[in-house]
Amino acid sequence: MAGNDVLLEVKGLKVSFGTPRGAVKAVSDGSFSVRRGEVTGIVGESGSGKSVSAYAVLGLLAPGGRVEAGTALFGGRDLLALGEKELRSIRGSEISMVFQDPMTALDPLFTVGSFLTEVLRSHSPKTGRKEAWEKSAKMLSVMGIRDPGDVMRRYPDSLSGGMCQRVMIAAALLCDPQLLIADEPTTALDVTIQEEILSLIQRLKEERGMSVLFITHDLGVVARLCDRVTVMYGGFVMESGSAPQIYEEAAHPYTKALLSAIPRLDDKGEEPLAALEGEPIDPIDLPRGCVFAPRCPYCFEDCLRTRPRTLDLGGGHSAACHLVKKGGRADV
Ligand code: SF4
Repeated sequence: MAGNDVLLEVKGLKVSFGTPRGAVKAVSDGSFSVRRGEVTGIVGESGSGKSVSAYAVLGLLAPGGRVEAGTALFGGRDLLALGEKELRSIRGSEISMVFQDPMTALDPLFTVGSFLTEVLRSHSPKTGRKEAWEKSAKMLSVMGIRDPGDVMRRYPDSLSGGMCQRVMIAAALLCDPQLLIADEPTTALDVTIQEEILSLIQRLKEERGMSVLFITHDLGVVARLCDRVTVMYGGFVMESGSAPQIYEEAAHPYTKALLSAIPRLDDKGEEPLAALEGEPIDPIDLPRGCVFAPRCPYCFEDCLRTRPRTLDLGGGHSAACHLVKKGGRADV
């Protein structure tokens, strides 16, 4: 994929973490892209490499983490080749991130107003305090907060989880970034608040043309939000495509398994899919063949011997599975 409509393009990302037991291969082949004005979802279970991929792109890997290969083109620059100083100037101003637990991301000793004005002034030092305060309050009202003046004077412990996440999204957007990375932004919130935050991101995308990389373990959560979806498992991309391709024409057994786990309105209570049973792989000792083989009900000889290559299915849809290569599809 190329062209001006692609804002971020990550290819062949490989990330490992040194441990006493050996190198944990957190991401072995991460490739995904975000187009301007679109939401790309990276979906996978814990340990799939989805969050590590985003952290690697921003130079925020935990201690022991190392990018071994790959490129992450953003506005003509390879983020993976930049130094910490350059990355720091991109973080928060051109790319912002929202994390899973808003309560721990906010400092309990600062009011929302001091926090937001500080965020704005740290990226734009020429902005006066009064202007920063006004811009912050305005951003809170964009977030759907009815009385921003009141919220600006409050401390985080007096706010609900949903309200804190709105404050964090406001902070992320204050410097008008080109890309918002949201790492499981609704996981710590209850279902009603989850809905509100998803609607907020949807509205920001529609009204401001915002580009978003949305990381989640829940394919159902991104069903209505994402334009494109990348499904990861064990540090590899299993399938990627437009949302309709993934939700209506899924080709990979793992994607099918995730889809079948989404509760549906017409659910008649069938048995959950057996494909999600079985042991996850050991990221220190990856299997020779397909990483999903130990849990795949369609596994055959080739799957244990060789790792499947990514097959282009046309129209931006691709999947890495020997079964798909043979012309078959997992009939789940
Ligand atoms: Fe299953 Fe084989 Fe496809 Fe892997 S390559 S998902 S084991 S059918």
